[in-house]
Amino acid sequence: MDEIALEKENTEIVRRYKTLLRSCNSDITREDKKLIRQAFNFAVEAHKDIRRQSGEPYIFHPIAVAQIVAKDIGLGATSIACALLHDVVEDTHYTLNDIERIFNPKIRQIINGLTKISVFSEKDISAQAENFRKMLLTISDDVRVILIKLADRLHNMQTLDAMPRYKQQKISSETLYIYAPLAHRLGLYSVKTELEDLGLKYTEPEVYNDIVQQLNATKNSRVKYIQKFTKPLKASLKGHQLLFSIKGRPKSIFSIRKKMKNQGVSFDEVYDKFAIRIIIDSELENEKSDCWKTYSLITDHYRPNPDRLRDWISTPKANGYESLHTTVMGPNGKWVEVQIRTERMDEIAEKGYAAHWKYKQKGNYKEGNLEDWINQIRDMLKNPESNAVDFLEEFKLNLFSKEIFVFTPNGDLITLPKGASVLDFAFDIHTQLGATCLGCKVNGKIVPLSHKLKSGDQVEVISSQKQKPKKSWLNIVVTARAKNQIKSSLKEEKKQIAEEGKEILRRKLKHIRLTFDENTVNKLMNYFKYKTSLDLFYDVGTGVFNNMMIKDFARNRNNWYKYIRNKLSKKTDKISSVDEELKLDTLVFGANEDKLNYSYSKCCSPIPGDDVFGFTTIKDGIKIHRQDCPNAIRLQSNFAYRILETKWIDSSNQQSLAVLHIKGIDSIGFINEITQILSNNLKVNIQSMNISSSDGVFDGMITVLINDKKNLAAIIENIKKVKGITSVSRKFKST
Ligand code: MN
Repeated sequence: MDEIALEKENTEIVRRYKTLLRSCNSDITREDKKLIRQAFNFAVEAHKDIRRQSGEPYIFHPIAVAQIVAKDIGLGATSIACALLHDVVEDTHYTLNDIERIFNPKIRQIINGLTKISVFSEKDISAQAENFRKMLLTISDDVRVILIKLADRLHNMQTLDAMPRYKQQKISSETLYIYAPLAHRLGLYSVKTELEDLGLKYTEPEVYNDIVQQLNATKNSRVKYIQKFTKPLKASLKGHQLLFSIKGRPKSIFSIRKKMKNQGVSFDEVYDKFAIRIIIDSELENEKSDCWKTYSLITDHYRPNPDRLRDWISTPKANGYESLHTTVMGPNGKWVEVQIRTERMDEIAEKGYAAHWKYKQKGNYKEGNLEDWINQIRDMLKNPESNAVDFLEEFKLNLFSKEIFVFTPNGDLITLPKGASVLDFAFDIHTQLGATCLGCKVNGKIVPLSHKLKSGDQVEVISSQKQKPKKSWLNIVVTARAKNQIKSSLKEEKKQIAEEGKEILRRKLKHIRLTFDENTVNKLMNYFKYKTSLDLFYDVGTGVFNNMMIKDFARNRNNWYKYIRNKLSKKTDKISSVDEELKLDTLVFGANEDKLNYSYSKCCSPIPGDDVFGFTTIKDGIKIHRQDCPNAIRLQSNFAYRILETKWIDSSNQQSLAVLHIKGIDSIGFINEITQILSNNLKVNIQSMNISSSDGVFDGMITVLINDKKNLAAIIENIKKVKGITSVSRKFKST
């Protein structure tokens, strides 16, 4: 680009900026202007090397969005600054921290909201539209986020020509599904109408062009008709000393299209393609009577249709709309809709609540008043008794019940029931992801499986191939899907373990010279009170059913009737006293409980739960023998140095997240001391730490990755030793 062209472009940027300043509210302060200028300069610099699809400098876009925010929506300096900055964090190297440093926390908050919303799903938006709308209203801390987003969308729609066709279609349907209805609910009629018309233009270009053409073709006759219709009215209104303006406006292309569709009629048959709007310049206290006076004058000339009188002056619409609508029989036997309203009402109708508040504060308009509006919307949403019925109708169901809306890392929206945990989320995404879920990151922070989600959370699943569904998970999840998946996976696992257990039992029986057959299995089941062979095999597989028991059975197998008679109760006690939680399935070695490769020796075929030791062989690595193996004494006496202390552990307790709740008295350096103990002394992996302190008392959560319960006990013991700590406890079971 040559210098002259560049020069021209810079002049144009400045020109557009000046137009923006002129669009600002007249009572804008010097401070406000300073903020806007600062935002403008920052945005110009940040986007300086970027161009839009159309080839224009990128900064044209934020300026245009700010222009809409200022002029069409009527927002103040903070919003205008945010509009100028709205794409900086998303599209340039500047971060939210930069925004906060250069501007202020409020602006950061709004920009953050805007950036969050722009993470869009690639999926079919129509399916998610309603949820998305609800979510926008529930998560946005500040309604300005939504208003600026609407302005952003409007400008993108206005400049959609530069986009490839498939993008035009995607963006347009989003606009029709999400943004136009949202604008409607917020009372932004002009924004809504433009979004709808542009949406139609790109989703159904032929229909759109056809209506535009026909509107043009009928323009002259329409203008003539309107003149004829309004002539006697003007005279009457003047005669009654009313100050007014009359507009005869065609209805929006989108609404004509809607009528054609809904009523199944052609363009010619749509009878109200335009409406007459009479806008009265009236003092606040005379508004109502002036409007009705106007109505009365109209009906002196034209007969009204009583079914089509709408009085939104006595009871304004929930989104703030005030107006008096009537339909009268005009010349040539045509029904004509007449809208009667004051200038104040008209501005509210066009700009929504921002204008409403401007009037309420009577010229003393500051953006702070917008907070009141935001609060009012909140109150309406919260209070089902309020008369804002229309508005609430759509939202209360959602807000008071039952659903939350959360994001995947890609921005896909997932709907879950209220109270859903991150584990529910993982199962909702994919069965396998749920089954191997170790924990999750919620908004970047690691949380345990039981963590309950809130609307707007962004959730990333941390999985491990070693993880398996646990029985305790059933208490964490609330969705039927997750519950069923966990149950079926536990069943599947049980079947597998039972299958292994069956083989182990076959070997064990052989060892004591018993045949593995139906008869023996039945006897075992009777003897130990098992309901199914599956349960028996499963217990063998997990080691609950151990060698001692099988020996017991062998001793008594010939007179087990007698045995049952004598010892049944005692025996039953014994079985049920076996710790259900204990699933000994993995061997660890030495005092540090290291995991090493090993194999079982053939001479004594140990099974999980047996008393065993490891023997280091020269060729085959570590061999596991039972303590009562015939070879044991020889090995232990001759090769003591090759014996490894060995024990069974429950591998399902391996490496799980545990959250420790720590309380104590605040003292300098205690956090440092705790982390020292955890990372240096105990070599524990700290996943997250969240400590708050007030009035000299601190309260904290530390999430650690633990190996087993013993490991956890040691961690707790050691933290307790830190000076000032009053209590350490495990917050909830993470697995
Ligand atoms: Mn943008």
